[in-house]
Amino acid sequence: KEDADYLISLVRAIPGFPKEGILFRDIMPVLADARGLSILMDALVSNLSIANDEFDAVAGLEARGFLFGPALAERLGKGFIAVRKAGKLPPPTVSESYALEYGEATIEIERNAIREGERVLIVDDLIATGGSASAARDLVISCGGVVAGFSFIMELSGLDGVKALGDYPTSSLLMMP
Ligand code: IMP
Repeated sequence: KEDADYLISLVRAIPGFPKEGILFRDIMPVLADARGLSILMDALVSNLSIANDEFDAVAGLEARGFLFGPALAERLGKGFIAVRKAGKLPPPTVSESYALEYGEATIEIERNAIREGERVLIVDDLIATGGSASAARDLVISCGGVVAGFSFIMELSGLDGVKALGDYPTSSLLMMP
């Protein structure tokens, strides 16, 4: 409880960024704080919705999923797969376009980054509408992988983003109003 309160105290809320009407939640101060980062990584591991033997790899979304995804994967003894914005990865790639909370985006994965039947845990810093994570889910499936579950640091409550993902084990560390 004390640790959870400490984490929440470090998350910065910025009204009107990157657009008017958006309340942006900034995870960077958590990463910048030694105690915050340690609590975060421990909590991510202990709150996972699936057991360690139920998945093979961690996939993280650019860019903030790259900040803690590889660290999480290393702690769990897994490899890390990058889900990137369009045009960054060498071919062959698989693409998926989707609507964001603000704007539109296309994300890609290297076609051969996932083995047939490989079970993948998808991670990101925050789930809002679930559009980004759903696109990542579809990419994993397109590559022949199996979505084992999702892990988020923050979940914006009231947007039903987790429902949009479908029926997968999902954990969110912090519920943000
Ligand atoms: P969604 O696709 O609507 O679920 O939005 C989630 C994606 O947008 C994630 O990749 C987040 O990193 C990013 N995002 C949306 N809102 C915020 C925010 O308030 N803080 C940080 N990232 C956000």
